[in-house]
Amino acid sequence: MDEHGTCGHHDHAPHDHAHGPGRTADLVARAERLAQDLGLQFTALRRRTLEVVADEGRPLGAYDIAERLSAPGKRVAAVSVYRALDFLTEHGLVHRIASRNAFVPCEHGHGAGESAVFLICRRCGSVDETISAEIERSLDRTLAQAGFKPASRIVEIEGECGACQGRHEAE
Ligand SMILES: [Zn+2]
Ligand SMILES: [Zn+2]
Repeated sequence: MDEHGTCGHHDHAPHDHAHGPGRTADLVARAERLAQDLGLQFTALRRRTLEVVADEGRPLGAYDIAERLSAPGKRVAAVSVYRALDFLTEHGLVHRIASRNAFVPCEHGHGAGESAVFLICRRCGSVDETISAEIERSLDRTLAQAGFKPASRIVEIEGECGACQGRHEAE
């Protein structure tokens, strides 16, 4: 079993999402190393975009990100944020949740071409990313059988998270 077969931070309670200052610093450090290794620019806008997404801990749209990066008299255009997000997505630092048209940080350090499964709660809006070697393998098989070349390998499942189910039952 490789390192992606298990996911350490998912043994916690569903809403104990790992985000906040420590996570953000880790993610920024990873981005810096990656950019350096690839000889790419980790521009101030890319860094600030990553910081905003990582701090949020919830899916955030490009316009919301632009809003947070804007200061009075100094607006950041959504189109610039989209370009920064392209870079971050391409390098597996953030993922785009298609059904929300929003972005979440990725703390797994897996490659951009690897699959990820998102569990999206309709009630509280939380998003949990999990990685499964089993899904990875069966997705490979399915794609090969269909002769399909994927542009992304992201599976989104909507429903109700454990914490929300608990709240519901207690009502
Ligand atoms: Zn990921
Ligand atoms: Zn929930």
